[in-house]
Amino acid sequence: MNELYTRVSSTTKRALYQFMKDHEISLLNYHFDYFFQFCIQENNIQVLSHHFSNHKIEGLTVVDGLGTSFSYERDNPKVKQNFTLCHELGHFILKHDGSYFTESIDNQENLVEREADIFSAVVLMPDIVLLSKIYYSCDTFHQVQNSLEVSKQALFYRLSDFLREYYSDNEGEATQAIESYIEGKNSFIFHLFHDIREQIIEEFNQFKPSLINQVKQKVRKVGFTTSLEYPDLLNQDNWKAIKASSINIKTWLVYNKGKSIAYVWDKEKFSDEEARNKAELQLLLM
Ligand SMILES: [Zn+2]
Repeated sequence: MNELYTRVSSTTKRALYQFMKDHEISLLNYHFDYFFQFCIQENNIQVLSHHFSNHKIEGLTVVDGLGTSFSYERDNPKVKQNFTLCHELGHFILKHDGSYFTESIDNQENLVEREADIFSAVVLMPDIVLLSKIYYSCDTFHQVQNSLEVSKQALFYRLSDFLREYYSDNEGEATQAIESYIEGKNSFIFHLFHDIREQIIEEFNQFKPSLINQVKQKVRKVGFTTSLEYPDLLNQDNWKAIKASSINIKTWLVYNKGKSIAYVWDKEKFSDEEARNKAELQLLLM
């Protein structure tokens, strides 16, 4: 169990933490939906709701000629729907083999299902966010549960699995700390977080915002940016990857009197000439 948990949670954090850095997501206002929406837009995934009167199917992933779609039981409580959606995203991001995944009470022991559950728990309640809320912001169990929109049970299990990764030789202590945290006494859990906080922060800070993602996001927002904002754009080796990241993105360079500006634009928002004029204006003002 532990090895599986560590493996899946570190794969999940690689994708999630890179996203959080690229998009400057606030730790205290974190919500899984930022990451979820980003992933479904990037990958053209459809999200639908369904209803079966016996509630037997909590969620579904279907991959076919039309693409990928997730669906969730619309009569389930919101916290359950959130867990299901992140679970379905887990099958996709963890590249599970198959074109059909069904969530029901009967298949919880299956390995890919357990992996998707771990993915979901980590995306809903990332280590760095738990540290920020519980240790730095001193939020109560109830506040954490509400702000992340998870069930009491999901937060309890997530904290157990998470603390068990660090305190594997003393699981009893971790469980006791969580139980007293639920009752409103946070000194015990505070102490456990205190001793592992640097490792959690260091793991998060290994990730740096990537040039390509920053530029892409900026261009998506305002249509245009230059090497004045992102100096590494002057290195033309980066252009290929930037252009490959979207069919609408173009890059070019203007120069005058030994100065140059590389610029990137969205061809649907600006014509080549408009983009060039904007870049030349910046060059004039340099
Ligand atoms: Zn599943």
